[in-house]
Amino acid sequence: MSTKTTIMKFGGTSVEDARAFQNVAAIIRSAVANRPVVVVSAIAGFTNTLLASVRQAIEGDAGSATRSLIPDLDRHLAISQQLLGPESRVVFEAAVASARREIRQLHKIIAAHPVTHLPLQDEIVAWGELLSSHLLASVLRENGVAARCVDARRLIRTDDNHGSAAPLPESSLSTRTELTPLIEAGEVPVVGGFIASAPKGATTTLGRGGSDYSAAIIGAALDAREIQIWTDVTGVLTADPRIVANARTIPVLSYQEAAELAYFGAKVLHPKTIQPAIEKNIPVRVCNSRVPAEAGTLIVSESAAAPQTVKAIAHKTGITTVQVTSARMLGAYGFLRALFEVFDRHRVAIDVVTTSEVSVSLSLDNAAALPEVIPELRKLGTVEVEKNRAIISVVGEGLRNTPGIAARIFSTISAVNVAMISFGSSSVNLTFMVDEARVREAITNLHRVCFEAVDGDSALMNQAEEVTA
Ligand code: ASP
Ligand code: MG
Repeated sequence: MSTKTTIMKFGGTSVEDARAFQNVAAIIRSAVANRPVVVVSAIAGFTNTLLASVRQAIEGDAGSATRSLIPDLDRHLAISQQLLGPESRVVFEAAVASARREIRQLHKIIAAHPVTHLPLQDEIVAWGELLSSHLLASVLRENGVAARCVDARRLIRTDDNHGSAAPLPESSLSTRTELTPLIEAGEVPVVGGFIASAPKGATTTLGRGGSDYSAAIIGAALDAREIQIWTDVTGVLTADPRIVANARTIPVLSYQEAAELAYFGAKVLHPKTIQPAIEKNIPVRVCNSRVPAEAGTLIVSESAAAPQTVKAIAHKTGITTVQVTSARMLGAYGFLRALFEVFDRHRVAIDVVTTSEVSVSLSLDNAAALPEVIPELRKLGTVEVEKNRAIISVVGEGLRNTPGIAARIFSTISAVNVAMISFGSSSVNLTFMVDEARVREAITNLHRVCFEAVDGDSALMNQAEEVTA
């Protein structure tokens, strides 16, 4: 009987040193029966160092660029010294030496011809994942796991948009072709995340944090049972733990809830990265490599998600809001188009939009272009700008069908001035703007009412469950 595979992706902090590697090896070893395919990021901080070295080379100093990598290359060697036997250590040391040699050549080329740097930058940063996957596969073999390092560039094909390449559909077939025989033979493939190749073979990368995306692409190609994203927190939390000490792990989220949370600033997977999983309806689990026994957060399709009312409270500070008021808007068409075109021309992303009869309010999290935008907006109406605002977003599928929930939420924070309320377009989030100075107070109160039941008074979430049941 052939069981489905499980993708296990480990981020950089899960492989930061020898102890972390050993821990990851133990986690994988205890899951061998699930037919794991392992996806691993570069060791913590190495991608940043590699990118910084490219910038140094662009400035013309190839020598310092290469030297700047020594501490991180030494970290790799230290891990191999602690965890590998003599034979595999020699092989890994040779890989580190050739990484250094090749990167040295690339730094020289970049210093001489800085304009060509993007493809070469991908060639350089790829070494982060090439070395971590080689090292992890070797550590696994030392631990009795039949692991084999597989070059991700043979699996994931992309366009040639270096630095942020988009995967091509043929990745599915090449991933299956490369991995299925290994899995059938009882081996555990170990693949570096983040890296891929363009049609003519050039190395590409999927954008920062792209290893999650790699895991989802590979999981979709193999029709995995589950995609596990192993990180250093326990799943997705009900609120930012720096604000709410009692924040806790959300057991189950729908894809849409997870996307809304990511959009409004929660530390959760980027929606793009779970898209391949959504299309194949594959559950994504966010697990904690420091506490592997905890179930973490399971992200599933809406139908399988527990229909609780409120799942989490996300927020984003440093928001600027812009209000444009024009009597001309009344009954006229073309106003909104003209307004959005201004933002479009200046490539300013808008987060939340609310409208009334004669005014439109918009929120921006990057207001750098405002000095150019405002004079153009003034041609359309009166413009008011408010800085130091924060978006709070209450997220949960149950918001759709729980009468009175918005009233309960706002009565909880009635002392805080709330603006730009937006509810309904996705119906899994209720979003509004407050002053940045009041965000802590608002979130603490909301969290208490939504998640922290006090004696005799059940939390909003539980009550609502009764309502929807
Ligand atoms: N190592 C890459 C980065 O730091 C990819 C990843 O970690 O997901 O962005
Ligand atoms: Mg990462």
